[in-house]
Amino acid sequence: MRIDIISIFPEYLSALDISLIGKARTDGLLDIRVHDLRDFTFDRHRTVDDTPYGGGAGMVMKPEPWALAIEHILEEVDSRPRLLVPTPSGAVFSQGHAQRLSQDDHLIFACGRYEGIDERFFEWATNVCDVELVSLGDYVLNGGEVAALAMIEAVGRLVPGVVGNPDSLVEESHSDGLLEYPVYTKPSQWRGAQVPEILLSGDHGKIAAWRHEQQLMRTQQRRPDLLS
Ligand code: SAM
Repeated sequence: MRIDIISIFPEYLSALDISLIGKARTDGLLDIRVHDLRDFTFDRHRTVDDTPYGGGAGMVMKPEPWALAIEHILEEVDSRPRLLVPTPSGAVFSQGHAQRLSQDDHLIFACGRYEGIDERFFEWATNVCDVELVSLGDYVLNGGEVAALAMIEAVGRLVPGVVGNPDSLVEESHSDGLLEYPVYTKPSQWRGAQVPEILLSGDHGKIAAWRHEQQLMRTQQRRPDLLS
């Protein structure tokens, strides 16, 4: 899978060099390319923003550098990529998004800053990309980079080969609509607390039934909205 990220803070994305995503890049499973939006400006100050029409606080990102950055990426590919724009006014990103996006060949993330990107850019972008506005949650971040990092990690770990043991993806929280059951490791006694007896029984059928029951209880207690 190819992933392009456009940002005015490319160094923010250096976290993509470490852990499983970093290894997937080294192994050639993920082709991740980071672009500095300011490379698509032509003035001395490499300006990417300007004051908002209609007045108001803050600055708005100019559409032209974004269009040039997208066109630069498109020069290298034949197919129509998906353009993901992190924004608090997008659809809240979920495991369902991650599963769907992990089937794509090419994603582009446009990481906005300030008051966001001039609205005309989104309409222009629909001519060349499948555009989706996605939110990390109902709060406001300073920029789209943290959201892009979270989404790339959620999508990237579903790309075949990125996580060593694919079974570990199957029983995770949100993979089947429920939260994961509680997990334990050695020692079986720790500071007076005992691992549930059933997990030491070796009876895989009973363990699976217990875990499913725990998933339902935990989801009911912590996220009843998921059950409705
Ligand atoms: N004025 C915008 C609004 O009220 O919707 C918020 C702009 S925010 C300060 C700057 C950038 O951070 C946004 O353009 C977006 O890229 C990113 N951002 C902020 N909150 C986000 C969230 N919850 N999910 C995804 N991206 C977010």
